[in-house]
Amino acid sequence: MATVIAIDGPAGAGKSTIAKLVAKELNAIYIDTGAMYRAMALYLLRSHIDIEDEKALMECVASADISIRFVDGEQQVWLNGENVNGLIRTEEVSSMASVSSAKGAVRVKLVELQRKLAEDHDVVMDGRDIGTHVLPGAKPKIFLTADSRVRAKRRYDELTARGEACDLDTIEKDIIERDERDKNREISPLRQAEDAILVDTSDMTIEQVKEKIISLI
Ligand code: C5P
Repeated sequence: MATVIAIDGPAGAGKSTIAKLVAKELNAIYIDTGAMYRAMALYLLRSHIDIEDEKALMECVASADISIRFVDGEQQVWLNGENVNGLIRTEEVSSMASVSSAKGAVRVKLVELQRKLAEDHDVVMDGRDIGTHVLPGAKPKIFLTADSRVRAKRRYDELTARGEACDLDTIEKDIIERDERDKNREISPLRQAEDAILVDTSDMTIEQVKEKIISLI
């Protein structure tokens, strides 16, 4: 039977770290759907369109060719023939992704790609709407969360380790704002699926979270 595991949750809950480890353990591929929303956001930024202009947005989305490749087990996101992995983690792209991911035209296109990938592979997929919308038949469905301060601190540590100057309060405020946008949008808002298992990672190590999820499979 195909492996289809959904891991959803707010920003910075540790979804990608955990999903990657679980996928490795199960010999499945890890699919980071946030990276697809980020690639689309990069394209929208480069296109300089007003994303509130529905017609312009539809046309722009239609001309974006987003695809995924796996190289040495790592996901690469390609945008119109260019590997954009190194370009999608900036603040500018994060902000645009948070806003543009609420748009129906963007979601329809990317959900189609996500479902196609799950048809062709054993997957551990992470995002915001995987268990509720993209792969409703996934088993198990995990809703990974953590206190916003803890999530902000993890991000702060990551940035500081890379030598980037940052401020913990600003990071937390930003995380809360993005969560609110994801939770309150009309299409596929962030919420725990009824049959999802809640895992609060606030006081857990990465290894403990991984073990917990493996034990649920
Ligand atoms: O997970 P990550 O922070 O990389 O996702 C970037 C943005 O894409 C998020 O702010 C969220 O709004 C959006 N997203 C989404 N649905 C998903 C994955 C990400 O709306 N399945």
